[in-house]
Amino acid sequence: MKGSCLCGEVRYDVVGQPRAVSACHCGQCRRQSGHFWSSAQVDLGGIEISGDVCWYASSAIAKRGFCATCGSFLFWKMGDEDAISFSLGTVDGATNLTLEKHIFTADKGDYYEISDGVPQF
Ligand SMILES: [Zn+2]
Ligand SMILES: [Zn+2]
Repeated sequence: MKGSCLCGEVRYDVVGQPRAVSACHCGQCRRQSGHFWSSAQVDLGGIEISGDVCWYASSAIAKRGFCATCGSFLFWKMGDEDAISFSLGTVDGATNLTLEKHIFTADKGDYYEISDGVPQF
């Protein structure tokens, strides 16, 4: 699986097995993505990233990676955890993944409903 930002400066190759396919409705993901944010997680050794990624420390424990040129929101990483989440919206072509859960739904916007039957947390 490959992915890239809007301008193409940042590219990544996922060679590991993606897991935790989720849509996050928290206030931070909503602000950074403009809606809710869908992602999957891989081990750090399971992804190769090239290009200039800017990291924003959104809290004491997590940081958010975006393209320095076009601003596309690509990555989320928790502290020193040996894993990284990548944005499903930035995958080139088919992901062959299916959403497993909605998270932080208590913080979702009031302008949409979640009605796909996927478990909510
Ligand atoms: Zn870019
Ligand atoms: Zn979130």
